[in-house]
Amino acid sequence: MTADAATLSAQAVAAMQRLDALGLNRGSTGNLSLRCARDGRDGMLITPTGVGAEELQPSQMVWVGLDGDVQGDWHPSSEWPLHRAVLARRPDLQAVVHTHSVHATALACLQRELPPFHYMVAVCGADRVPCTPYHPFGSDALSAAVAQALGDRQACLMAQHGLVAAGATLAQAMRVAVEIEALCEVYLKALAVAEPANLSAAQMAEVLQQFKRYGSARRR
Ligand SMILES: [Zn+2]
Repeated sequence: MTADAATLSAQAVAAMQRLDALGLNRGSTGNLSLRCARDGRDGMLITPTGVGAEELQPSQMVWVGLDGDVQGDWHPSSEWPLHRAVLARRPDLQAVVHTHSVHATALACLQRELPPFHYMVAVCGADRVPCTPYHPFGSDALSAAVAQALGDRQACLMAQHGLVAAGATLAQAMRVAVEIEALCEVYLKALAVAEPANLSAAQMAEVLQQFKRYGSARRR
């Protein structure tokens, strides 16, 4: 493993443990990938299948080329085709986080998108988080549906399944995952009372502009 891959693997393990600690993933559900070239070939490091965050070791991360070539001692997550599809289609993204977090998954089970009911929905880089139709996990159909639903966004829901969040950095992908899960919880609570009002396209466009201007941390 190169030094770069070792660093990325350690970061991936820490992120998986944080998702577990935050309650976004349980047991061996959920997975995470980081873009990582090897010998000049485009690819990713992805979490292994069937290993919970508590016992996950950096050495168990699996390298998978964007051409589908799998290298490593462990089997990659069964959902690796989905990660590959996102990273292949979006060269601007470095990290993909997938969770079965309770509230995002509940909304996905209703086959409903997360609409612009709150300005923070813009954290996904658009005015709503769409929900793909149902396809079996690990299938090419699901990978294609996720890549299409993401478009130029950074999050989507998958019907009867869960959440996909992505970022230009791992920290950004984690921030999107945590925020969208929290927003799904608020949305479901509001929905239990009445259908929440939505912000207009113009209002969301203004928020998206402001996020572009003020979105990153700045030292004064
Ligand atoms: Zn899944």
